[in-house]
Amino acid sequence: MPKPGELIFESPRRGKPPVHLMDLDPAERKKAVTDLGLPGFRADQVSRHWLSRLSDDPQEWSDLPEGARETIRAALLPTLLTPVRTIACDEGTTVKSLWRLHDGALVESVLMRYPERVTMCISSQAGCGMNCPFCATGQAGLTRNLSTAEIVEQVIAGARALQHGEVDGGPGRVTNVVFMGMGEPLANYRAVVAAVRRLVEPSPAGLGISARGITVSTVGLVPRIRELAHEGLPVTLAVSLHAPDDALRDTLVPVNTRWKVREVLDAAWEYARSTHRRVSIEYALIKDVNDQRWRAELLGDLLAGHLVHVNLIPLNPTPGSKWTASRPEDERAFVRALKGKGVAVTVRDTRGREIDGACGQLAAANP
Ligand code: SAH
Repeated sequence: MPKPGELIFESPRRGKPPVHLMDLDPAERKKAVTDLGLPGFRADQVSRHWLSRLSDDPQEWSDLPEGARETIRAALLPTLLTPVRTIACDEGTTVKSLWRLHDGALVESVLMRYPERVTMCISSQAGCGMNCPFCATGQAGLTRNLSTAEIVEQVIAGARALQHGEVDGGPGRVTNVVFMGMGEPLANYRAVVAAVRRLVEPSPAGLGISARGITVSTVGLVPRIRELAHEGLPVTLAVSLHAPDDALRDTLVPVNTRWKVREVLDAAWEYARSTHRRVSIEYALIKDVNDQRWRAELLGDLLAGHLVHVNLIPLNPTPGSKWTASRPEDERAFVRALKGKGVAVTVRDTRGREIDGACGQLAAANP
């Protein structure tokens, strides 16, 4: 099994990652293990070590014979994520990791610890093809989709760090996962849905995280939103709207030229109807661009009466950006206007700003 970075015969940035236990569902794991000449129940044993005990050290898998441990590790547990940099802030309760994938592509994940929960913000693609002009990841373009295991392993890495007490506040568990790192999750639909299944299924199939704690955030790929509505996975859907009118949204979220605000919201309401989950509308407040009172009122009119919640995000300007966050008084007026329409609204906290917080900035700083 090659070590990360050793796949010299493949295109450095386009290589398909090696198959990993976390790519496989329980039946596929069993088959993979029997294909190695081992009894099928070894699959459940090793899955328990990996997912429940979070043990990546074959020495600790004492219910498996030594030969079986090494065979399974070599064939099914390649190292997918190699840490490049880890930075902590907010008194050690926010930890951002930059990972190198087997082919040299970079992705990032962020662990945020709150008194009552731990949220992991993870990436679904290396880069992103959606080209939103205010987003650091959007500027770099798409490198490739992540595999299911590359997605799941970001959460497992965070869970391990917590279990080992490496995050300030003592040992803990991951309770929430948000697909708000790099990439457009619904553009990597199959791998993302499989990863969500692995996150929510109980051990030994998966990590046993509640679907209610998982949020999939999208620019608004309408057919995929409708498909996700019927997967039987009651995750929270977040729609990155950023503008209530097509003229502005065409420029802020370019995929809007394909699916308009009205179509995106109709798909969101279908999602809410079929899952009974409140949809989250993400809206980055950009000074004098999308923060006018009339836009707040138009947004309120579009959303009023639906199972929805607005999450306002003060813009985190990317280096060299001509845009900046809204004035505090405009932010307050925007909140008031939405509340005036009867729409639930909160302003997102801004953890991790001093470590190039979110939105692809860490990877952008490490080309
Ligand atoms: N592609 C998905 C998920 C990744 S981005 C999506 O667009 O929803 C997660 C959220 O961060 C999105 O709402 C995105 O619009 C927002 N975001 C990106 N860059 C930002 C920035 N510079 N400031 C504030 N929010 C940003």
